[in-house]
Amino acid sequence: MGDAIDTDAASDWHARARALRPHCLALIGGATAPAASGATFDCISPIDGRKLAAVAACDAADVEAAVAAARAAFERGDWAGRPPAERKRVLLRFAELVEAATHELALLETLDVGKPIRDSLMVDVPATVRCLRWYAEAIDKIYDEVAPTGPGALALVTREPVGVVGAIVPWNFPMLMAAWKIAPVLASGNSLVLKPSEKSPLSAIRLGELALAAGLPPGVFNVVPGHGHTAGKALALHADVDAIAFTGSTATGKLVMQYAAQSNLKRVSLECGGKSPNIIMADYPDLQRAARAAAAAIFFNQGEMCSAGSRLLVQEGVREPLLQEISRIGRAMAPGDPLDPQTLLGAMVDETQTQRVLEYIDSGRSAGARLALGGRRVRQGSGGCYIEPTVFDEVTPQMRIAREEIFGPVLATLSFRDLDEALRIANDVSYGLAAAIWTRDLTSAHRAARALRAGVVYVNCYDADDITVPFGGYKQSGFGRDKSLHAFDKYTELKTTWIDLT
Ligand code: NAD
Repeated sequence: MGDAIDTDAASDWHARARALRPHCLALIGGATAPAASGATFDCISPIDGRKLAAVAACDAADVEAAVAAARAAFERGDWAGRPPAERKRVLLRFAELVEAATHELALLETLDVGKPIRDSLMVDVPATVRCLRWYAEAIDKIYDEVAPTGPGALALVTREPVGVVGAIVPWNFPMLMAAWKIAPVLASGNSLVLKPSEKSPLSAIRLGELALAAGLPPGVFNVVPGHGHTAGKALALHADVDAIAFTGSTATGKLVMQYAAQSNLKRVSLECGGKSPNIIMADYPDLQRAARAAAAAIFFNQGEMCSAGSRLLVQEGVREPLLQEISRIGRAMAPGDPLDPQTLLGAMVDETQTQRVLEYIDSGRSAGARLALGGRRVRQGSGGCYIEPTVFDEVTPQMRIAREEIFGPVLATLSFRDLDEALRIANDVSYGLAAAIWTRDLTSAHRAARALRAGVVYVNCYDADDITVPFGGYKQSGFGRDKSLHAFDKYTELKTTWIDLT
C-alpha cells in the first residue's frame, strides 16, 4: 500500500484513505457473509465524521452459526489435531501476512478510532505481529509434566485446549487487544469466535481473513461484528462456548460474569478498566524525565488507555516544577490530523466518548479542582472528535475525577506528604491495573512495589512493555492475565492421567 513510513506525507495517507474500501462482512465457517438478518451498522470515522462502511450487524443467529462452525472444526480436530510444528508454521505465516499488510491495517485502525497514523504504524501493527509470532514460536516448545508421585504410579499432567473460546474486545487498541486473545487461543489449539467492538470492527475483519489466507482451517477463527447487547451478549450466554476472554469496561465485565453463570458456567477472564496512580517522590533526581513519562502515560492514545497513569500523585515540594513541565509538554501535543505522520495526539473514538470526557472535565471544575491546562474541545471545523490535553491540579481523593476511569487525555494531580500517605491514596480506588513510583531510594521503591495493589508496578518508568510479561489487573480491573506463557492458563484445561504401575 505504499512507501516507507517516514517519507509519507499526510496527503499520501489522505489519498490512501479515499481509495480504501474496508471489508465489512462477518467471517463464519471460513466464508464471509452479511448478517443473517441483513442488518448493518454504520462505521463512522471520528477523524472527520465520514462514514467508512456499513458493517454486518451480527446478532444471536450469526453467533449461533459461528459457534457451531467453531465447535465442528474443534470436534473434527482440524486444528488441535495437527502436529504442533505445523500449527506453528500456519501462525507464523499469519504473522507474516499481517506484517505485509502493515499500511492497510494501520490505516484501518487510524480511520476507525482516530489514533495517529504514526502510532498505528509504530505501535499497533508491530506489536500485533510480535504477539502472533511469539505465541506461534511457543507452540512446539512447551512440554507437559510427569508428577513426582512415587514408584507405584505414572501420573501425567497434560494441557488440552478448552474448546470454543469467545473473545469480546474493546476499541482503544482494536487489533492489539484482539491479538492478545487470538494468539494464545489459537496457539493452544482452540477454535475462536471474535466479537470486536462496534466502534472498531474493521481491522478484526481483516485479521480473520488473513488468518484464513495463512492456512488456518475454516471455522477455527470466526469474526462476528455487532453490538455488545446483541452479538456480545449472545456469545457470553451461549451454552456451547467454553470460555469467554473479555477486555472492556468493568461494568460490561460484570455482565459477562452474570451471563456465564446464567448459562453453562463457562470460564471467564476479564481485562477491565483502571485508574492507575503514578507516584513521584521528591527525591527522584530527573524531574524532566518523570514529567515526560507522566505526560505520555496520560496523553498517549488520547488517554484511551486501560493502564493510563491518570492519577498523578506528587510529593509536596516538586509539584510546581513538575506540573509546569507536564503542561509545557501537553501544550506541544495539541490534537492534529491523525493522518499526518507528525501528529502525536489524534481524535477521540466517537462523539459519545467525547461527551463523556467533557462531562468529567466539567465535574472536575465544579468539584473545585484547578484546571491547569486544556479542558476544551478543539478542531470542531474538522467534523471530528478532538479534546486537548487537560491537567487538573488540587484534586482531592474523593472527587470523581480522582476515582472514576475517564478514558481521555485528562490528568488528575493530587499531592501527598510522605510515602505512606501516597500508598494509601494510590490503593484507595476500586481498580488495580497498573501503578508507578519514581524514586532513587531503593527501600521506597521496594516498599511501594509490595504495597501497591496492581497487576503491574513500574519503578522509574511507565508503560514499559513486552510480550514476555503478564498483563492484567487486581480488584475490579479484572482477573486472568494476557500476554506471556501465563495466558495459556485461560485457554487450556489441565488433565491428570493416573496410570497404576503396581
Ligand atoms: P465496553 O465494556 O463498552 O465494550 C467492550 C466490549 O464489550 C465491546 O466489544 C462491546 O461491544 C462489548 N459489550 C458491550 N456490552 C456487552 C454486553 N452486554 N454483553 C457482551 N458484550 C458487551 O468497553 P469499551 O468502551 O469498548 O472499552 C473501554 C474499556 O476497556 C475501558 O474500561 C478500558 O480500561 C478497558 N480496557 C482494558 C484493558 C485491559 O487490558 N485491562 C485493555 C484495553 C481496554
